[in-house]
Amino acid sequence: MDGDLELDSDEELFRNPVHYEPAGINLDLDRADLGIPYGESLMAELLRMRKRVPVEQRGLICPDCRAARGRRVAMYLVERNGVWLASHYRKRGEKPISHESDEHLARKERVAADSEDHGFPATIESSAAEGHARLDVRIDGAGDIVLGYEPQLSDQTVRGMRAREGFRRRSGIRSVWDFANPDHAGIGIVPYVRTPDLPASVIRVQKNPIQLRDGNFVLEEGHCSPSGALDRCPEIAYAPESPTASGYCGRWHRVLVPAHLSSGFTRPDDRAALTLTQFIVEAAAGERVPFQRDGQHGWLPVQQWQKYVEANGQAPEEKKRAPSVREGARRDRCTEDRPASDVRSEPKGRRGGRAIVLETRTKESVTPEVALDALGKPIPLCRFGCGGLASMAGPEGLPEHWSCRRKHDDAQASAGEAA
Ligand SMILES: [Zn+2]
Ligand SMILES: [Zn+2]
Ligand SMILES: [Zn+2]
Repeated sequence: MDGDLELDSDEELFRNPVHYEPAGINLDLDRADLGIPYGESLMAELLRMRKRVPVEQRGLICPDCRAARGRRVAMYLVERNGVWLASHYRKRGEKPISHESDEHLARKERVAADSEDHGFPATIESSAAEGHARLDVRIDGAGDIVLGYEPQLSDQTVRGMRAREGFRRRSGIRSVWDFANPDHAGIGIVPYVRTPDLPASVIRVQKNPIQLRDGNFVLEEGHCSPSGALDRCPEIAYAPESPTASGYCGRWHRVLVPAHLSSGFTRPDDRAALTLTQFIVEAAAGERVPFQRDGQHGWLPVQQWQKYVEANGQAPEEKKRAPSVREGARRDRCTEDRPASDVRSEPKGRRGGRAIVLETRTKESVTPEVALDALGKPIPLCRFGCGGLASMAGPEGLPEHWSCRRKHDDAQASAGEAA
């Protein structure tokens, strides 16, 4: 009975949530108990119904179709490498079902327009080379950088997010997953940003800033003392019952901190605060790079990348991994095939907004401040005199920043007009 159905694409299968109508609850297919009481027996019941009960009568529907379009679309379970996923019920030849809300569409259009305006070609709905991923917006950045912008406004499972990020990583794509919900399961699981949940009409107006609230980290280091550079000790757990208790351990730390929790943070309503537009343009220019540390993903300014690599002890993830498709596939399977008990023990709470300790020393020792690139060569300073390490070679082959080049060119252009 399930044989003559049109199966959703891999990208969709890993993205689809599923709702069990009789109980009025979404099921978590990552878990053997589906995340509900008596879930194991419900799962057995759902599997028994396959090939016996018509798809429309099994009680499974797509919650996104219902929320976005007020449509009741039946779903059925399919197995991929031992994991269960939900597909929309669709007969052969019927068009794939689109879930996109107007807010989702507006974000795609906005980011594509912003990228184009800053000189980076953008394509909406583009297939990645590896075949499984369909990028919401593909942005061709500086050099060989390809950015995938993926607004993710609906609920997703951790497994689904990891699988879809794996499709992208193996195609050499740097993805920017954009979540509006601070409790989204994908936060920290993939390279992400978080932005406010704005109406489509606001997003579409390009001059409206969309503030970045999480996902961009900064590197901070210093003595762990009241007079030191760190706001608090990253290794002493924050105690909600005594929020002002000064937790300093007296050692020295180097940490990755979400920018909004860093010591130099400007208020979110500040005009200077980072916007989604600026973030995307800088990521496309290679001035922000994705990192992964102990399973936590985020973005980091490239000037701080070398310090990160020094402490992290490895080259940027995508550079190291790109040539090894087999290794990438194996790693991906490892996380997907974890036993259910493992999945269960994952923290349920907010995943964003935590500091990541790169290094702790008992005494501050002198570290050489010569920055090296992945090949061990010193990174030169930007030719435009901003004082930072260059992020790329410019058209003349000299070290520069993409944004400094723009400022320089703009200054020359206005000087030309004035003359
Ligand atoms: Zn749907
Ligand atoms: Zn400390
Ligand atoms: Zn510069």
